[in-house]
Amino acid sequence: MTERVYNFSPGPAVLPEDVLRRAQSELLALPDVGISVLEISHRSAAFGEILAAAKANLRRLYGLPENYHVIFLQGGSRLQFSMVPMNLLDGRTGEYLVTGSWGKKAVAEAKREGPTRVVWDGGETNYDRLPASDACEVSPEAAYLHFTSNETIQGVQFPVEPASGEVPLVCDASSDFISRPIDVARYGLIYACAQKNAGPAGVTVVIVRDDLLARCPDNQAGMLDYRNHVKEDSCYNTPPVFGIYVVKLVTDWLLESAGSLEEMARRNRAKAALLYDVIDAHSDFYLRHAQPACRSAMNVTFRLAREELQPEFLAAAAARKLVELKGHRSVGGFRASIYNAMPTAGVKALADVMREFAAQHGG
Ligand SMILES: *Cc1c(COP(=O)(O)O)cnc(C)c1O
Repeated sequence: MTERVYNFSPGPAVLPEDVLRRAQSELLALPDVGISVLEISHRSAAFGEILAAAKANLRRLYGLPENYHVIFLQGGSRLQFSMVPMNLLDGRTGEYLVTGSWGKKAVAEAKREGPTRVVWDGGETNYDRLPASDACEVSPEAAYLHFTSNETIQGVQFPVEPASGEVPLVCDASSDFISRPIDVARYGLIYACAQKNAGPAGVTVVIVRDDLLARCPDNQAGMLDYRNHVKEDSCYNTPPVFGIYVVKLVTDWLLESAGSLEEMARRNRAKAALLYDVIDAHSDFYLRHAQPACRSAMNVTFRLAREELQPEFLAAAAARKLVELKGHRSVGGFRASIYNAMPTAGVKALADVMREFAAQHGG
């Protein structure tokens, strides 16, 4: 069998090896069913069980109360940039905190749908920080306050939810979904494409509070109306069956290996600290992007002070089987994406390479 390397890709991203093995072992025929998950009807009892288990796992991990629905959609987080304002504006203004590239894209789509106001935008410092707590005046009449809990490209993460008064939070949690606990009651809607932390590309999880569904307008396409997906239990049309199956396996793995989001968060913080400690210890050699108060436990962004050494660094990492470390062009340098499924051993190996590389080059 081909050897696996440590994959630091921002997404689609690393999946737990146990999950891949399980999917492989069941691919030909689901146990006691005799049909592959790639062939099974979404109306079958066997798939109904998989769907129910994926939902139950997510409910258990987040401790979701009865008045929150879990649905599985397609179209990625990008479609949620549009579906959120389409369904939830209800004649009011959607307010946005823009702390990175994805938030900016969410605003661009929202503007096509209705009144949109940017409460804060960190573009001036190339999205290296969060707003100060007194910098955001959310209007009490706003339809919602949208924020991106973790900006995947800049590596900027909210340590806690932003203040929004009584206004429901809407969160693009794509790149830190099921990586830590959240204060669920503050949220009206949470969405996350699966391919960062929860599964393969092709399925997007949406968690929506029941009372917000009353805002959905009647005069829109059925596929874009959250109510249809809630009413039909994610089977309004054929759902992404394989993706939902893998989300079930990933959440099974999380519950078995970590047991809770508190423990998962503890492990994620410990992994991230391995890298931030090296960056801080060699701060003239490795330049951080995100400010320490908001640096991400999922995407660690840094550059080399001596930019000309960049190819050499990537080669040194690749020689240890550490791949997909190149940063996004808008930030430059490197980005190590260390989602739930990235083993500590992989992060340790990267920290070692960083230390050795700095020592070799007088950093
Ligand atoms: C990856 C990502 C997206 C885009 O997701 P798609 O599934 O490609 O639409 C949106 N927001 C954040 C925070 C992301 O990390």
